[in-house]
Amino acid sequence: MTSLFEYAPAPESRSIVDIAPSYGLFIDGEFVDGTGEPFKTVNPATEEVLSQVSAGSDADVDRAVAAARRAFTRVWGPMRPADRGKYLFRIARLMQERSREFAVLESLDNGKPIRESRDVDVPLAAAHFFYHAGWADKLDHAGLGPGPRPLGVAGQVIPWNFPLLMLAWKVAPALATGNTVVLKPAETTPLTALLFAEICQQADLPPGVVNIVTGAGDTGRAVVEHDDVDKVAFTGSTEVGRSIARAVAGTRKSLTLELGGKAANIVFDDAPIDQAVEGIVQGIFFNQGHVCCAGSRLLVQESVHDEVIASLQRRISTLRVGDPLDKNTDLGAINSAEQLARIHELSDIGEAEGAQRWQPDCVLPDRGFWFPPTIFTQVSPAHRIARDEVFGPVLSVLTFRTPDEAVAKANNTTYGLSAGIWSEKGSRILKIANQLRAGVVWANTFNKFDPTSPFGGYKQSGYGREGGRHGLTGYLKGATHS
Ligand code: NAD
Ligand code: MG
Repeated sequence: MTSLFEYAPAPESRSIVDIAPSYGLFIDGEFVDGTGEPFKTVNPATEEVLSQVSAGSDADVDRAVAAARRAFTRVWGPMRPADRGKYLFRIARLMQERSREFAVLESLDNGKPIRESRDVDVPLAAAHFFYHAGWADKLDHAGLGPGPRPLGVAGQVIPWNFPLLMLAWKVAPALATGNTVVLKPAETTPLTALLFAEICQQADLPPGVVNIVTGAGDTGRAVVEHDDVDKVAFTGSTEVGRSIARAVAGTRKSLTLELGGKAANIVFDDAPIDQAVEGIVQGIFFNQGHVCCAGSRLLVQESVHDEVIASLQRRISTLRVGDPLDKNTDLGAINSAEQLARIHELSDIGEAEGAQRWQPDCVLPDRGFWFPPTIFTQVSPAHRIARDEVFGPVLSVLTFRTPDEAVAKANNTTYGLSAGIWSEKGSRILKIANQLRAGVVWANTFNKFDPTSPFGGYKQSGYGREGGRHGLTGYLKGATHS
């Protein structure tokens, strides 16, 4: 497609971040060397090594859990709730003050466009701390039962798709409810968690309240399986989630799991098509499709299929793929070589099984990990690309004729995290939303997040809710929801 004009590059400067050549673990308020084999984190857009990071061994995790236990027993547990709230407010304000630094660092380490890290990830992360700061001294009045009490030490493991935001989703409710934390960030994106550790120091948070232990799956397993952890919170793949559920079963630990998804985005023939097309694009190409609640299955009513696809193809042809630090970029880099290989594999299977692949003309950078925005038409519900989470910029298009068929197809999945409905009729939206087995249903919009709104899934998408008043219960003893 020819464009009327070329965009001039508009790169955000990376000079605001100061990345150290190496990082230790953050335990008991200090950075200490880990005793595991250190690893490197790269910029997925260039494959440049950004830093070398410590890996936490079992012994390091043990030290972190001991620090969290001491802080819980001596300082954070007994502290007046209003004072805990003050620390959370302070952390939230510091995150805002240093938001450009966080945004640039997130885009460098993760590959996501600066427009998203700057306008979505970082502001939402700060908003989670503000929101939970407000809860800290109001838990007795939250309708959670009489005198809700913290569980103790929370072991938390997070993925690489929203590194800072997932940290905020985990750490903010844990601290607001009086728990202390040992958090393990993902191995490809540890840097914003380490910058958050600096924020904890800057906020004078008592040592041991937050501990950050970097490393890969083995470090995560040591956190989850540690005997002195009272609560496990995990976000990531269904496969690892399943192994964690097995490890925790039969222990006294409480568990929340936020796993994958294969959301249906349903477009009815009365939908405003231009708006729906924007929502489809936002639903699947936001964050390169590395989103558990991505609208990865488009269900479009047969009578408007051709119109929607033509319009979608026109819109996708205008998306700009490239330098994550360029403010005009719509799609950044795929987070890792492993994830790129998985996207290639599932897309190739899609073609082999008979679906029709379409990609726009688009020049990808020579170095780094890239995948063009892709749609598959003629997808049948049995195809792998209609069932498995691709976790990349790949949309599978299916059709339906009646609302009942739309609901049946939407619910025909092992997951149940989110869904979207596009229609001009309010009554239809409400009726369909009630029939969808999904934790979040968006109507005439997609991928909207707010700390006040609970988020979580049905079936293999996991259990427990994060955010809102519901999310507090996962960190409190004897809390019931009314
Ligand atoms: P993963 O589940 O392996 O990794 C998520 C986190 O768990 C990372 O911090 C990792 O180090 C840690 N981990 C790995 N093994 C562990 C174990 N045995 N015990 C404790 N922690 C462990 O996910 P991945 O390999 O990075 O991605 C694979 C697929 O998972 C993706 O293609 C995507 O489909 C899905 N995924 C979903 C989400 C989500 O938000 N729901 C996030 C990331 C990946
Ligand atoms: Mg990285």
